[in-house]
Amino acid sequence: MKSAFSICIYCGSRPGEQAAYADAAQAVGQWIGKNGGQLVYGGGRTGLMGLVAESTRAAGGRVVGVIPKALVDKELANPLCDELHVVDTMHERKAMMADRSDAFLALPGGIGTFEELFEIWTWRQLGYHDKPVGILNAGGYYDGMLAFLAESVRAGFMNDWQMTLVRTGTDTVPLLEALAEEASRHPKGDKLAEVL
Ligand code: AMP
Repeated sequence: MKSAFSICIYCGSRPGEQAAYADAAQAVGQWIGKNGGQLVYGGGRTGLMGLVAESTRAAGGRVVGVIPKALVDKELANPLCDELHVVDTMHERKAMMADRSDAFLALPGGIGTFEELFEIWTWRQLGYHDKPVGILNAGGYYDGMLAFLAESVRAGFMNDWQMTLVRTGTDTVPLLEALAEEASRHPKGDKLAEVL
């Protein structure tokens, strides 16, 4: 059966120092599960990634993991996934995650999370897809990055329209609801794998 709403979560392979980060990962998983949704993520068992998957499953949601074969041991490929895809390359992973999702949300994370967030955001500005993208600023983690992005607009390297392509929030449920609502207005069927 097809799930109602499939959301891709980008987040840390580490848990981070503040309880607010783990709380956010759990709240996201619980919301997905409670709403009969599907989590698409990097397929690992560590850090916030593992937590969001575990919380989604515990709340009755479906979990799709996509992991490159080179990372199966390093990121501990997660056996609790309903679907675990072991792919050849990082590029395949990201294209499949994008294809299988109706929306994207970044939680606190490190360099891998940043790379995924900025990539999916830039793909949207290029017109490769028009699915909603969000940043969950849990515990104020992204305050510095958001201030820098505003500085980039002031400095003339970005514009206001580009900032409208990403939705930011500090409260988990309202942000997820806004992404789901925006996704429901969006025609399905972007085939990102075909343009990448
Ligand atoms: P991190 O935020 O650094 O803990 O990484 C979170 C996830 O992003 C991990 O599953 C990484 O494999 C993934 N990731 C995606 N793209 C990249 C990339 N280009 N380099 C490193 N990690 C990446």
